[in-house]
Amino acid sequence: MNYKIVTIPGDGIGPEIVREAQKVLEKVANVYGHNFTFEKVLMGGCSIDAYGVPLTDETIEKCKSADAVLMGSIGGKVGVSKWYELPADKRPEAGLLKLRKSLGLFCNLRPAHLYPELKNACPLKESIAEKGFDVMMVRELTGGLYFGTRKTEIVDGEEVAIDTLEYHDYEIRRIAKKAFEIAGKRNKKLTSVDKANVLDSSRLWRKIFKEVSKDYPEVTLEDALVDSTAMQLVRNPAQFDVVATENMFGDILSDEMAEIAGSLGMLPSASLREDSFGLYEPSGGSAPDIAGKNIANPLATILSAAMLLRYSFNLSEEADAIENAVEKALAQGYRTGDILEEGVEGLKLLHTDEMGDKIAELIG
Ligand code: NAD
Repeated sequence: MNYKIVTIPGDGIGPEIVREAQKVLEKVANVYGHNFTFEKVLMGGCSIDAYGVPLTDETIEKCKSADAVLMGSIGGKVGVSKWYELPADKRPEAGLLKLRKSLGLFCNLRPAHLYPELKNACPLKESIAEKGFDVMMVRELTGGLYFGTRKTEIVDGEEVAIDTLEYHDYEIRRIAKKAFEIAGKRNKKLTSVDKANVLDSSRLWRKIFKEVSKDYPEVTLEDALVDSTAMQLVRNPAQFDVVATENMFGDILSDEMAEIAGSLGMLPSASLREDSFGLYEPSGGSAPDIAGKNIANPLATILSAAMLLRYSFNLSEEADAIENAVEKALAQGYRTGDILEEGVEGLKLLHTDEMGDKIAELIG
């Protein structure tokens, strides 16, 4: 199959980690007989340096013309980099927000997988970490409290701030469909998280998830309250498979899950549109403290490339091949510095490019 992938290496470690993910995708193309063409574009600080703005219209158009976008990370050292002397809407992060909006990406996926080899990085009790977990958080990304109308005003001499939490049925229905489709490709268990004992928007959320569930009889739907879910995620994360929730709850729960999984360098993410198009990026930032040293962990970006194959190109076998190669590399003791456990014998420290080579070698 022929596919076009636009890459946005970005700033800091971005170019180093995207280069390795591209290397792995090229190996997949070779082994499985696909033709992936790559086009590199600028966004973030590097785009400010080249064009004076963090995102150009031309870059947006190039992304729109692709089948999927693979991104590294953008931004510099906040408070140190000259990019942060610019007004907020001209800074690197403004480019990413504008791109997500221009591409209509409303569904954010953040998997949190605890690999047995990295279980000591998990801050939970050993008895919990031992069981491992593999949770997929599906977060609504373009509605709810962060996008509702807001104002701060003086009422009867008091300062009052108002944020509006609003969801339309179509916004809930389209994210519900994505969540059920994803659950159908995994263990067929979906937990829909809300605060239906208090909020109208949550009661609508719950009602629509129930309606959509009729089209996916193979998936078991469970409702849960957000406060109870936050607790259960640290008590027994293994009970969850796919967790779907609205924007603000998802913002908080996905960071909680990232913390439980322990290793930032291992966490991929995806942002999807209604069709198969998506933008894929590691959950971490541009790590300016280690940029240019060839020591960054490329695995989150490589795992993002696996998600790209699974969710945008529907190439599950190829996605599995990448994920299995990552598991094999970890099982064989290969580590970048951030996931190297001190005092454990038999581990082999690799540079960024060597880890990319190792994963490519373990495919096919
Ligand atoms: P960060 O995630 O870049 O770094 C936090 C810590 O984790 C650092 O010590 C870093 O070295 C380490 N780290 C992160 N990714 C790593 C990897 N792949 N391998 C090894 N170590 C890794 O967070 P920060 O320092 O708060 O932010 C730096 C810049 O990144 C800021 O400009 C911020 O705005 C930006 N940022 C961008 C995105 C994005 O592009 N989506 C997301 C978060 C932060």
